[in-house]
Amino acid sequence: MSSTRNIDLIIVGGGIAGTCLALLCEQGGLDFILVDDHKNNHSSYVASGLFNPVTGRKFVKSWEAEHIFPLIHEFYPKMEKKLGADFFEPRPLIRLFPTAKASNDWDSSSPNPFISELDEQIPEYIDPGFGGIKVSNAGILRVKSFLQAAKEFFGPSKVKEGLSLNTERIEILHEGVRWEEYKAKKVVFCEGPEGRRNPYFSWLPFSPTKGELMEIETNADLKDSIFTKRVFFLPLSGNRALVGATYDRTNLNLEKTPASREYLEERLRSFFKSSYRVVDHRVGIRPNVKDRRPLAGFHSEHEQIGILNGLGSKGVSLGPFVAQFLVNAIIKEEQIPKELNISRFFAFFEG
Ligand SMILES: Cc1cc2nc3c(=O)[nH]c(=O)nc-3n(C[C@H](O)[C@H](O)[C@H](O)COP(=O)(O)OP(=O)(O)OC[C@H]3O[C@@H](n4cnc5c(N)ncnc54)[C@H](O)[C@@H]3O)c2cc1C
Repeated sequence: MSSTRNIDLIIVGGGIAGTCLALLCEQGGLDFILVDDHKNNHSSYVASGLFNPVTGRKFVKSWEAEHIFPLIHEFYPKMEKKLGADFFEPRPLIRLFPTAKASNDWDSSSPNPFISELDEQIPEYIDPGFGGIKVSNAGILRVKSFLQAAKEFFGPSKVKEGLSLNTERIEILHEGVRWEEYKAKKVVFCEGPEGRRNPYFSWLPFSPTKGELMEIETNADLKDSIFTKRVFFLPLSGNRALVGATYDRTNLNLEKTPASREYLEERLRSFFKSSYRVVDHRVGIRPNVKDRRPLAGFHSEHEQIGILNGLGSKGVSLGPFVAQFLVNAIIKEEQIPKELNISRFFAFFEG
């Protein structure tokens, strides 16, 4: 018979959310295990890893960008040192105006601190069309390398890979939970889109979206800069680039569709002048929420059961930001801000 192991936390899910939480728990001195069934189609393994503080047709700064972007530019390089791996790449990002109207409407005196006039030379393989703007603080996280480096760093005593945690096997104790040989003060579910099937949290207003992207290979001598014009064009090594992405709230399956590929290629051809061939086509489901804000916090009836989810299409930038609030709530009993706290939906919970 195995003896009980007392720990602080069980983290369920090893995507961006669970991994950021694990790294911050370790930093805060919490003893944890991370259980991940590692389904290859989970969104973190599909994500292109782009981070970009400017959003929408009107080039506004994304939610909390002034706090989130300084934080991720500190967090990921610190993790690179700790984990002994390279995965964070700040890059120039250029948003091309999709129409003459968009170009005319853009007000160069805009107070958005992340935008400036375009002073870069545009590579010959890009058609500048109506011109564009330069976005600072953008770049890519090589997500697979980040996740892999963290798992290797923690090792098998902490990371239980290939295991699925079935909620029926969790015993709720007066203080904490028991699962297998572990007795933990808390369990936090970081299950991505699977979170909507978790019986403790299925009442939350998940609104997942299917996303498809493609990888292309070209003879053009690709530079570092990322371009966006209705789709993003993200150069990789070896003359390859990622092009994405689509958004579909209706067909939540993992089928690659010719219609999505056509959609991406049509937009790509509106600004990419070189020839290319498609070498890969990927699909995943994003964990979005109806009010477009993350989900962090603890169950209204079981405060030992928590969640970190709802990172939507911005897992790279939101992951460390939201995980830090959860860790501060666990260690210092600090309040999680209302905007991302699941308490904003407690009225939906019927018990
Ligand atoms: C096509 C596409 C492109 C994207 N591009 C970007 C981008 O450029 N930049 C960006 O920031 N974001 C992007 N995203 C969004 C990003 O992928 C998500 O925000 C992020 O990956 C969510 O991470 P997560 O950890 O919450 O969920 P997931 O990545 O889904 O991870 C959840 C993990 O938990 C595991 N799991 C679930 N239930 C259990 C259980 N009961 N027991 C054990 N394990 C369990 C799953 O197998 C999985 O490994 C993109 C998404 C898609 C689909």
